[in-house]
Parts: sequence; C-alpha cells; structure tokens
Amino acid sequence: ALILGIESSCDETAAALVTDTREIVAHRLAGQEAEHTPYGGVVPEIAARAHVEALMPLVEGALADAGKSLDDADAIAATAGPGLIGGVMVGLVTAKALALAAHKPLIAVNHLEGHALSPRLASPDLKFPYLLLLVSGGHCQLLLVEGVGRYRRLATTIDDAAGEAFDKTAKLLGLGFPGGPAVERAARSGDPKAVPLPRPLVGTADPHFSFAGLKSAVGRARDAGRWSSEDISASFQQAVVDCLVDRTRRAIEAVRVERSRDTLLDCARSERGAIRALVVAGGVAANGAIRTSLQQLAAEQGLPFVAPPLWLCTDNAAMIAWAGAERFAAGLTDPLDTPARARWPLDPDAAPARGAGV
Ligand code: ATP
Ligand code: MG
Ligand code: FE
Repeated sequence: ALILGIESSCDETAAALVTDTREIVAHRLAGQEAEHTPYGGVVPEIAARAHVEALMPLVEGALADAGKSLDDADAIAATAGPGLIGGVMVGLVTAKALALAAHKPLIAVNHLEGHALSPRLASPDLKFPYLLLLVSGGHCQLLLVEGVGRYRRLATTIDDAAGEAFDKTAKLLGLGFPGGPAVERAARSGDPKAVPLPRPLVGTADPHFSFAGLKSAVGRARDAGRWSSEDISASFQQAVVDCLVDRTRRAIEAVRVERSRDTLLDCARSERGAIRALVVAGGVAANGAIRTSLQQLAAEQGLPFVAPPLWLCTDNAAMIAWAGAERFAAGLTDPLDTPARARWPLDPDAAPARGAGV
C-alpha cells in the first residue's frame, strides 16, 4: 500500500509518500524558522498561516517527485493532534478534502504515534514490545510500545519537556532558535563539568522527569557571569543526559521486575515477553550526546539500541505516512468528521505524574 502523509502540528509543514514495505518514495518539508526567529519561538497564528501557504505545493511536489497522482495513494494520513490547533486543522482539513475528492480513506494520526513508530520505518528488525524514550519539544515520556495503538505510559515530565529545556536554555544564552541544535553546537567547545547544575528527580523510584529547576539553574549560572555560554551549554547538556539515562535505566528495571512477576503469576500474560529494544525518538533524539549515552545504557542492560536517522527524529511527514501505513495494515481508518485535537495523550489511562513527595 502507498500512503500519503501530512504533518503540520508545529512549525514544520511536510508531505510524504511511504509504502507499507518501508519505502520512502518522496518526502518534502518546509520549516518556518525565518517567520518565527524574530519572536524567539513559535507564534501559533503565524504558523497556521504559513502551513496554509506551504502545504498544497508540498503535497503536489511530493507526488511529482514520486511520479504519482493522488489516485495511486491507498490512503491519506494526517496529524490530527496533539499540537498547535490552527496548524493541525490546516493539515487535517486538507487531508479530508483530498480523501473526499479522491475517494480514499482518511487516517487520523496522533503526532506522538508518528514519533513512536518512526524507529520501525528505519529499522525493519525492530519488533514489539519496546521501551521508548520519547523526547521532543512538547513531551518527555517513557512508553512501553506493545503494538500499533497500544502504548503504556510509564513516566512523563512533571513540568517542562526536554526540548523545551533546550529551547529555553538557548534563549537564556542568546544562542537563537530553535534551541536544541544551537545548544549542542555550543556544547562541543565547552566543558561539561564546568558548571555545577542539578539533576532533578535522579535516583527517585518512579522514572518521571523534571527540567524546570535545571532551566532556572542555567539562568542563575548565566547571571553569575563566571562561565562561557559554551561551558554552560555543555554542563546543561550533560545534566539532561544524566537525567535521561538515570530515568530510563529505572524504567528498564521496573519493566523487568513487572515482567518477571507476570511470568510467575500469569503464564498467558508472560507471552508478551520482555522488551526487545531500547528506542529513542522525537526531536531531542537528534542530539549526539544523548544518543551516545543511551546506546551505552542499552549495552549495559543487554538490549539492542534503536534510534531513527536525525531527519526522522525532528518533525516530518514520512513518520506520519508510516504510522498511517501501520494503522492501515491493521484496518484502522477514520471518519471524515474526525476532530483536530490540541491535546491527545497516547495513553489515556496513564495517571498524571505526581510531583509531590520529591
Ligand atoms: P511534540 O513532538 O512534543 O509535539 P515538536 O513536534 O515541536 O513537539 P519535535 O519537532 O519532535 O517537537 O522536536 C523539536 C524539539 O527538538 C525542539 O525543542 C528542539 O530544540 C529539539 N531538538 C532538535 N534538535 C536537537 C538537538 N540536536 N539536540 C537537542 N534538542 C534538539
Ligand atoms: Mg519544529
Ligand atoms: Fe514532534
């Protein structure tokens, strides 16, 4: 099957054609950095307008690159949330119009499911279940990915997302926007041990995350005037690495304890088996230091490590088309009155993270 995917939930407009056999037939992407840079962050109304202008030319461009027409697609997948609602509506309404005009099924994809399944697009050997560290601009979660549409959230951030912490640090240090790549670049010529910074929640029992205190500490370090922005960047990045590794190790251990209990108590459930891999996805997974240290953690834990190529980590439409392909293969399509959603948890049953007692 050939799936057309559309992404527009934040500040990337993108269209892609992907097959259920993992062939990325075409993918196009337009960023909005120039539009948002004067404001130091994404302005929702500007983003929505830019999506309107960019999207159809990208869809037509992707089809042209592939030498295909809309008739060749078997389904049309679009991000239906979570994200900035104006942008999500632009992409979803466009997908609905195309689906209606071409008599194709619509697949409403959760953007987080796009990130969560993206490692399977690049790595055919990656099988369920796997432990996923989803680190992006708006999220920082540990998820047990048991199958398409089956996500169990083990942990989340009690305040900021990891990408948000990178973006705020970049802003504090005047490194520009978007912050993640700028902080990583500055960190390369800095000393990760130079600035004493906290490791929030490290060592606590539940594998939750917290980054707000770290960001405040970065602000104080800057105000102290004793360190270069390279040293602060390197020390900040090291603190994030230490938090992500500690929390992920904690989650691996917790899953293993739970699985061995399952095996003892309930033979049928044990069939689901142990996790097959440690996987990282989302924009922050493009960070080299984070990838390297998670790879070491996986080796220490005797698990294969899977991370998508850098361009598949940050927002793109190939991951949405792929999630569409996985859902289409499972027989999951959606009605044309499916709403756009600003908020849409992958695991609706997950209890809110408790910040208390820590
Ligand atoms: P979400 O997926 O949670 O809805 P989003 O779509 O805005 O949020 P992504 O596009 O997945 O987020 O990721 C963008 C985030 O990734 C930004 O916060 C950005 O700073 C961060 N990021 C990108 N590259 C890097 C990098 N090399 N190092 C650290 N962070 C990075
Ligand atoms: Mg972006
Ligand atoms: Fe994203």
